[in-house]
Amino acid sequence: MNQRPASGTEAALGSYSRQDETVVEAVNITKRFGKVTALNQINLAVYPGEFLTLLGPSGCGKTTLLRIIAGFETPTEGRVLLHGRDVTMLPPEKRPLNMVFQRYALFPHLNVAENVAFGLRLQRVNELELRERVTQALALVRLEGFETRLPHQVSGGQAQRVALARALVNRPEVLLLDEPLSALDRKVRLQMQDELRQIQAAVGTTFIYVTHDQDEAMAMSTRVVLLRDGIITQIATPQELYRAPASEFAANFIGDANLLEGRVVEFEGGLAVEWCGQVLKNLATTGKAAGSTVRLMVRPEAIRLAEPRPEQGATCAQGVVERSSFYGFYWIHRVRVGEHSLVVRELGGAAVYSPGTRVQVSIDAGRAAILP
Ligand code: ATP
Repeated sequence: MNQRPASGTEAALGSYSRQDETVVEAVNITKRFGKVTALNQINLAVYPGEFLTLLGPSGCGKTTLLRIIAGFETPTEGRVLLHGRDVTMLPPEKRPLNMVFQRYALFPHLNVAENVAFGLRLQRVNELELRERVTQALALVRLEGFETRLPHQVSGGQAQRVALARALVNRPEVLLLDEPLSALDRKVRLQMQDELRQIQAAVGTTFIYVTHDQDEAMAMSTRVVLLRDGIITQIATPQELYRAPASEFAANFIGDANLLEGRVVEFEGGLAVEWCGQVLKNLATTGKAAGSTVRLMVRPEAIRLAEPRPEQGATCAQGVVERSSFYGFYWIHRVRVGEHSLVVRELGGAAVYSPGTRVQVSIDAGRAAILP
């Protein structure tokens, strides 16, 4: 029987049901290096076919967690389960996992095909099957025709694709990837993100991916595990994480966020949140009483600016544009409303404001969230 982690929210399961079988489970994992607690009571369930990303700032423990799942580190406390079986003490080569590292670590004296074939040769797979599997793996990463090149004769992006093929050719149940794109330049990285997602969808292998780049995590993952100081702060789909961050840390780490203080008020027979004269309806005010204060999280694109008009009532607040910066397809405006300095993002075609322009500011309540 699979043992479910004791903790975890519904959001942590995303689209997975509680009945789904897990591939990997971390159960109450703590890892100490001397006085440093790298991981503190981690509980995590990974489901078949997921693209799960461990995300967090430098030093939060993501690589340590990946290495514990791989078997390169032993936890101080807790267990790792694969299909419900305790593998905590099993060495890496006995686990049905493969790892792709930040630096591709190809064998410099072996050509591309022989690099990919390496694991199969160790397993003494017969030559016919070996050739077939190497050809398939190279086709998967779009490297047909590169078979006889040596590692120094391919680009960084191609070398990382060889590393990927070398891991996938072994048909692991789970592929662990430790910042595999971080050594590549931005353009190649974006292209590889797209390819990695397509490859993962094509092979259906469970991917556990480590990155500190929130855009990368958002673009590729089915679920994101957000870590901070060795603790999981939130597990959610990218959409949930963006729309309903569970903490100020999550709100700020994933994209830009305006954190505002609102007040719960009675409005039209129900409860709403008032902020600087604007009444925001339809926010989840469950458990809040009229008169209490709440922390509001509003994304920069959920704020609209317009020329001030009289008689707007409680639909907007009044502000002054402090400065605007043009980023090609969008503008970032800094707008002062009372004591608050807001970040507002508008598409490039929108009105242009010079500093000092008075504007009315309205928050799209449907895209604002009350922080727990
Ligand atoms: P980064 O993004 O910088 O790679 P990370 O989130 O992957 O960071 P880890 O490498 O898991 O973080 O490290 C977590 C903590 O454990 C850090 O404080 C780190 O210094 C410490 N640590 C990791 N490995 C060791 C080790 N072998 N010996 C001592 N401390 C370690």
